[in-house]
Amino acid sequence: MSSNDYLKTMGAPSFDELERAGMLPSLADLAGRGCVCVECVEEIPCNPCETSCPQGALVVGYPITNLPVVDRSKCTLCGLCIAACPGLAITIKSVEAGNAKIRFPWEYLPLPAAGDEVEMVDRLGEAVCAGKILSVNSAAKNNRTAVVTAAFPAAFVQQVASIRRKRHGTV
Ligand code: SF4
Ligand code: SF4
Repeated sequence: MSSNDYLKTMGAPSFDELERAGMLPSLADLAGRGCVCVECVEEIPCNPCETSCPQGALVVGYPITNLPVVDRSKCTLCGLCIAACPGLAITIKSVEAGNAKIRFPWEYLPLPAAGDEVEMVDRLGEAVCAGKILSVNSAAKNNRTAVVTAAFPAAFVQQVASIRRKRHGTV
């Protein structure tokens, strides 16, 4: 079974599915300030990403089962859609000088803290590489979904989706 088929079997979107849906950013898209990454390929009736975006940069439209489409020229990378998405399907990634950053939603307690050493994981929660927490935004407007920013080596930018915290000396 290919890694693409395996991801699909386990409920995570495969690279092929993301690419077909226009949801896999290129390395050029990720360079510098980076871009919002929406990984939502299931045609579900859902649109908080659209209603949360103050720029009209993320559109589902009608019918509500449309896949969300991002207009990167309108996106300010404010990150409001990250916490608003009930599917935890939105991140913001960027790459600069060999380092990558990801802003991702986090709904577990206790929250990580800036400076924590963590393990970066892929869409299935499998370990990818080491990383470090840069900041944690748990503002009230995020409705109890924290938006965490972590740094890790740029080579893993397409694989990384979230973190796994170290616990009791293990991971
Ligand atoms: S990051 Fe902000 S501007 Fe960009 S799509 Fe999300 S809510 Fe809209
Ligand atoms: S809010 Fe999230 S799950 Fe819902 S349509 Fe938008 S990206 Fe998909």
